[in-house]
Formats: sequence, C-alpha cells, structure tokens
Amino acid sequence: MQQQWTKEAILEIYNKPLMELLYEAATVHRKYHNPLEVQISTLLSIKTGGCPEDCGYCPQAARYHTDIETNDLMSVSQVKAQALRAKSNGSSRLCMGAAWRNIQNNDEFDQVLEMVKTVNELEMEVCCTLGMMTEDQANRLADAGLYAYNHNLDSSEEHYKEIISTREYGDRLKTIDNANKAGISVCSGGIIGMGESDADRCSMLEILANMSPQPKSVPINALVAVEGTPLEEQEPVPIWDMARMVATTRIVIPKAVVRLSAGRTDMSDEGQALCYMAGASSIFAGDKLLTTPNPDISEDKKLFKILGLQPKAPFVDGDQPVSNDRYKECMSTKGNVKWNRPGHKIERNEAAKARAKVARKGA
Ligand code: SF4
Repeated sequence: MQQQWTKEAILEIYNKPLMELLYEAATVHRKYHNPLEVQISTLLSIKTGGCPEDCGYCPQAARYHTDIETNDLMSVSQVKAQALRAKSNGSSRLCMGAAWRNIQNNDEFDQVLEMVKTVNELEMEVCCTLGMMTEDQANRLADAGLYAYNHNLDSSEEHYKEIISTREYGDRLKTIDNANKAGISVCSGGIIGMGESDADRCSMLEILANMSPQPKSVPINALVAVEGTPLEEQEPVPIWDMARMVATTRIVIPKAVVRLSAGRTDMSDEGQALCYMAGASSIFAGDKLLTTPNPDISEDKKLFKILGLQPKAPFVDGDQPVSNDRYKECMSTKGNVKWNRPGHKIERNEAAKARAKVARKGA
C-alpha cells in the first residue's frame, strides 16, 4: 500500500541537518535509479507570450510588462526540426509548452496533436504543457502518442492564491486527474523562491506525494525573477534550499524523475553537483527554458564528464506510446471549454507599467 504523508512528516525531513538529508536522499536515489544517469530534456516554447493568465512569476502573461518576443503556434515541421536538433544534442525527451490558459478544441489543438505524433515517431518521450485539459483532450493526446503531461502545482494551495488568481488549485488537480485517466504519465512540481514558507513547500510535496499514482516526474524550479513581473524583486533562492527541496522530493516521491529545472544559470557547478547528489535525475537543455535563460548544453556536457554522469535513454521508466488515428476524432463540440475563472486579484507591477510607458514614449 502507498505510504500516506503528512506535511509535518515532510517538514521533519526537509529540516534535517543538511548532511543527513543528503545522505538519506542519495541512498533512496540508489535504491530506485541508476544515480549516474541523468535525463536531458528539451523544453520548447511552441507558442510564446500573450497568455491571459496572471501567474505572478511568468513573463508570458500578457498583462505584465516584459520584453519577451511573442510567437504564434509553430508549424509541425519547425517542431520536428527542433526535436531532431535536441535529440542530436542528447535529449531523450521533448516538452512542448504553449502559453494557453487551457486547451481548446480547435485547429491549433489539431496541429499540436500532429506535433505529438511526429515527435513520438522520432523515438523521443513527448511531454506537453498546454494548460488545463479535459478528459477527452487527454485521450486524444494519448492516442496521438503523448508520453507525459506537465501541469505544475507551483506551490501550496494557500500560497498559490498569492501568486495566481485567474484559476483555481482544484482545476489543476482535475487536469492532473484527466491525464492519469488517459494513461498519460504525470509531470508536476513547483517553483521555490516566490515568497513561500518552508511549510508551503512541504505542503505542495504532501499533495504530490499522496497522489495515487505518484507523479513520475517532478520538476523543481528556482524562481527566475523577470523584470516586469510582480515577482521581479524576489531574492534568488539559496542553493541550500534547492538541495533541500530536491532531496526531500527524492525521499517522499522516490521513483520519480526529479528535474532540476529553472534557475540553473544562477547555480555554480558545485551547487548543481550537490543537487545531483541530492537525487536530481534530469535537467533541461538548451539556451532557453521557455523564455528564461538556461546553461548551454556544452557546459552541461562538461559537468557530466567531471561528475561521471551519462545521459539517460528514452522510455526507461515506461513504454513508448503507440499512436493511433483516434486522435483525429474530437468527441466534444468544437469551441471553448469552460473552466472556473475566479476574480483576478494579483497586483500588477505598476512600477513596470510606468517604466514601459516611459520607454514607449522615448521610442
Ligand atoms: S505560467 Fe503558463 S498559464 Fe501562467 S501566465 Fe505563464 S504561460 Fe500563462
């Protein structure tokens, strides 16, 4: 029977003396995984910016004043070319992200389904992060050959309300449930450094660890504070907090791939090595993580060599999906799907708005 976790028990692990915590996490890591294998994944933004949501950390939210370049949905051939490039650089997983609130049953979703089929045929694990998703949409993605769906909890339910107000935590959980029902592997984690407490971090891990089944993939991000977003002035997360968070995740969700995600450009090689020791088993490659900076793959390869790490092959933790033509059949009527829309209450970054106004005048 799956162990049930309480926030208090997780906090106790999180607060152990760091050396003890690392040793315990490294031991659990060795029990369930080859600790010398690290999956290289590539995160590709297939549709960038202009998002109607108000996630306080995100430069892609249309309401904030960031200088990202917005892009319409990529073509299938563009995605295929990027996937091949990622594969040749050692990536065994391609995660495609679109800045959408939720998937809609329209031509753009049909195009994403073709992308999924195409990348699956390249023998890479295909993951998508497309916002909220119904059960029917999850089934179509599974039929197209989707391996995993990413939908982060971001933080604890309590702290989530301070960061995002245009959707509800319950809808996040519903989307994760829809992925599970369709047999898609769940990828869900969070971001630290958004003003949350240690208890918030452990509360998020409590929800993830008590999911049945537990997520197969858990990204742990350090906030990249982007100018123009409400969180632009947050202090960087200390590496010790990252190592604690990775180690605690490794212990309470032992079989998952724990992904050392955003924020690596601010980490030293030694800091990243500490996180690998703590049980991190994947990184994202490429010079950008959606819109924020990321170390160059040549730097990662150098560090892999120093540490004796190897890139992990695809489909070690699950079989490659077999695509079938049912993905072409939409069971729902075309058009918008209704999800909860609570009132928007995250304060806009008025200082960034004023700066943008001045810049526009000067242009
Ligand atoms: S995190 Fe996703 S949903 Fe939130 S604003 Fe950014 S693109 Fe939109």
